[in-house]
Amino acid sequence: MIRLGCRSVADSALEEIRKETERFTSEGNRAPSLAVVLVGDDPASQTYVRKKAEAAASLGFMHFQYTLDGDSEEKDVLALVAELNARDDIDGILVQLPLPRHISEKKVIDAIAPEKDVDGFSPVNMGRLAIGGESFVPCTPKGIMETLRYYGIETAGKKAVVIGRSNIVGKPMALLLMQKGVDATVSVCHTKTPDLRAYTADADIIIVAAGRPGTIDASYVKDGAAVIDVGVNRVEDPSKEKGFRLVGDADYASFRDRDVMITPVPGGIGLMTVSMLMANTLEAARKRRGR
Ligand code: NAP
Repeated sequence: MIRLGCRSVADSALEEIRKETERFTSEGNRAPSLAVVLVGDDPASQTYVRKKAEAAASLGFMHFQYTLDGDSEEKDVLALVAELNARDDIDGILVQLPLPRHISEKKVIDAIAPEKDVDGFSPVNMGRLAIGGESFVPCTPKGIMETLRYYGIETAGKKAVVIGRSNIVGKPMALLLMQKGVDATVSVCHTKTPDLRAYTADADIIIVAAGRPGTIDASYVKDGAAVIDVGVNRVEDPSKEKGFRLVGDADYASFRDRDVMITPVPGGIGLMTVSMLMANTLEAARKRRGR
């Protein structure tokens, strides 16, 4: 088994963004700026938002955080998004998901100006991705593409299987892999796929984003394949201080004696998302200044 750790991938991406940001500001542009909106006090969301703030600060980006009460009304969130859309000093807007149930995520995402939608979830950016135009690519699939490139994993002419069809991971991932220049032949599997193994057994690249531990194990995968495990799942573990540990969707231990490349959890794709968000924010700043 070859472990495809992502710490070095994320660090090298951040280093590249740092250099490009220095070049950008040395040309007289102000630093890229990111606004992050958090609604409520979900601990996991607070952690994600903090990590984004730390990364932005480490790159010298301007960073604005807006924290609204969990019982804020949908119109309050929409009004804040409208204000951020109009502000010239903000390049990228990220609304941390999930939102409280009484607020429509779709309405809020739709309200973000496409040129500031650094999460790439808006219909305009998803549509552009689908038809091959310039778009903000959602951060997790973008991080997976970066990881494949970093490790020299060939995609052209290869068989890829994406397990999961969500708007934030599975669908954009499949679109990226089938793009011209990437050139994989892609199958997308989901819970109604009758025989998952029939698809994975022959695949060169398997992206598993099902959100279920043990979705695949070594018996699903041929020798020489690359497995990108996107899942982040909590499983009870009384031996841990917090009472749980994080595992992916692939049964990592089962791959130990196999000739397979695999990203670990933790230490894998989860590390890529924040650096890709910073890449998108720099891109937003550049585009807004016509560079
Ligand atoms: P999601 O919206 O719940 O979608 C899961 C998808 O997987 C669905 O399309 C579902 O099919 C499919 N699926 C579930 N079980 C399956 C099975 N046994 N066989 C085949 N397909 C199956 O989840 P998501 O938002 O895409 O996230 C997926 C995982 O990635 C989660 O663990 C999440 O925490 C993680 N994640 C990680 C990052 C990161 O590392 N930065 C970012 C985002 C998400 P149906 O459509 O038929 O229901």
